[in-house]
Amino acid sequence: MASLRSAGIPLFRFKGIQVFVHWTFFLLVAWVLFTALGEGHDLAEAAFQVGLVLTVFTCVVLHEFGHALTALHFGVRTRDITLLPIGGVASLERMPEEPRQELLITLAGPAVNLALVVLLGVPFWLYLGTLGLPDPTAGPPTWLAFVGFLIGANMVLFLFNLIPAFPMDGGRILRSLLCLRMDRVKATRIATTVGRVLAVGFVGYAVMEGQFMWGLIGVFVYFGAQAEYRHVVMQQALKGLHVRNVLRTRFWSMPHTATLQQATAELLSGAEHHVLVLREGVPEKLITRAQLLTAAQELPPDTPLTNVDAVLPPVVHPEADVRAVHELLLTGNWPLLPVVERGSLVGVVDADNIAEYLVVNGLLRTGQA
Ligand SMILES: [Zn+2]
Repeated sequence: MASLRSAGIPLFRFKGIQVFVHWTFFLLVAWVLFTALGEGHDLAEAAFQVGLVLTVFTCVVLHEFGHALTALHFGVRTRDITLLPIGGVASLERMPEEPRQELLITLAGPAVNLALVVLLGVPFWLYLGTLGLPDPTAGPPTWLAFVGFLIGANMVLFLFNLIPAFPMDGGRILRSLLCLRMDRVKATRIATTVGRVLAVGFVGYAVMEGQFMWGLIGVFVYFGAQAEYRHVVMQQALKGLHVRNVLRTRFWSMPHTATLQQATAELLSGAEHHVLVLREGVPEKLITRAQLLTAAQELPPDTPLTNVDAVLPPVVHPEADVRAVHELLLTGNWPLLPVVERGSLVGVVDADNIAEYLVVNGLLRTGQA
């Protein structure tokens, strides 16, 4: 999900949750605008249709906050919410393994849309005496057409998200319910299989009906399900392991007084990509390959490493639970974390080494790592 974030434009922050909009979202807006103009609508009507799309996505943001704020209630933070043309993604730092909590967090999203349907629909129905929703794109833009559209859109969002295509909300609900009766890996396997079958159906529908959006959703579901299943298998395999089991004792480190030139020479001659900078044997910062290459272009070669722009990742203890550390590596997008015991550096831990440990010890097959 880090790739999603890096391609996102920050919109606003609420309760510590940053909302991003993915650049591809603007393609959708442009597409709606040009389609409306191409159909002979004037600019005001075309702008109204773009406004309708933005309104739907406002409801999507509210839906995602439904998940995020419920998660916060259970002590789980959300790093960010990213808006894509096919919907929103709330990146929770972790999903609670307690099925009941996961169920409530998942239900909270669609519940927001259902609440909007009721809140808007009841006055609408009392006023008009009907729930026949006018098509806002047909006639001239009116407030009534707009509210009618909003009710319809939230109804669609509610129903759409309940399709049991894991990792969509409906699929997560299915997984939580299965978890009440079986172990998490098996429950995820079943939910993933259902999700993949539906995803293939979405793509088939997209091809036959020319519904491009369903194709995108199908691809997103198919690969999303696969990634989540791997993650659950991984978490299961890591149960009971400590950092001490998986730490790497051979790694690249340099003193803080070493120069950029020395570091780039080492980068070229060695196989390691990221250098841990030490001050009196204690980790000071981690300079990634990208940071080192940028610094090599911008700074004089005799610049000491202590002056290169980089930060120190979270330091972990050899007795720490590998599951939490693995999560930390993935969510923070760190290439490695230093392992420190009683003030001295004893090694580093990275995702590749964890996966290799699992395969070597027969806890995971190569395809799953
Ligand atoms: Zn949702």
